[in-house]
Amino acid sequence: MSIAENVKDILNKVDVAKATSAYSNQEVQVIAVTKYVDVVKAAQVVEAGIHHLAENRTDLFLEKYEALEDKNITWHFIGNLQRRKVKDVINRVDYFHALDSIKLAKEIEKRATHIIKCFLEVNISGETTKHGFSPKDIDDVLAEISQLNNVEIVGLMTMAPISADDEQLDNIFASMRQLQTEIAAKGIPNIPCTELSMGMSRDYTRAIQQGATFVRIGTAFFE
Ligand SMILES: *Cc1c(COP(=O)(O)O)cnc(C)c1O
Repeated sequence: MSIAENVKDILNKVDVAKATSAYSNQEVQVIAVTKYVDVVKAAQVVEAGIHHLAENRTDLFLEKYEALEDKNITWHFIGNLQRRKVKDVINRVDYFHALDSIKLAKEIEKRATHIIKCFLEVNISGETTKHGFSPKDIDDVLAEISQLNNVEIVGLMTMAPISADDEQLDNIFASMRQLQTEIAAKGIPNIPCTELSMGMSRDYTRAIQQGATFVRIGTAFFE
């Protein structure tokens, strides 16, 4: 299928998932992950109506950010960010999805020229290969991060294991939703935590049904 057809198909599936979600009036922001494709294809997905784009590497982000500057894109950085690269990207992105250490939060605080909307990455499944905070450490992490002026925790982000079956996916996504609502209820300064970034090409409909508000979709747009 063409990129335009993929966009239509994905937006339809998102609507169906929202209609069958456990949560009513759920806003879902669809993000096109352009890390596998060049600037031309990234521009096509924008032409087809998706204005939120994501990259996971500094060099590829900067290349597309500059090439597509006139297209009014909301930019998401979804990858592991090395501390020495923070200064190059952090003031250009609208959302940073992979905040996974206090040291990184402090570097963002130092380099930011305005408040940066961040998602705390959570390793909910406990996979040893995954980045992200363990749920048991979250309270301590939030206490430290709430002291920072330029880091706002808008929500939580996770990546489900490749090996997870449907039932495991539902459990993972539901646990994330529970953790997110618990944190939001605390009303901690700088930590509204109203959003949930979860769901990729293979599992975004299930993630939406469990309360995702941002889905990060790559392959399904461009295959
Ligand atoms: C690549 C990537 C995605 C998109 O993956 P697809 O399976 O291609 O949809 C989503 N989130 C993160 C963090 C990624 O690195």
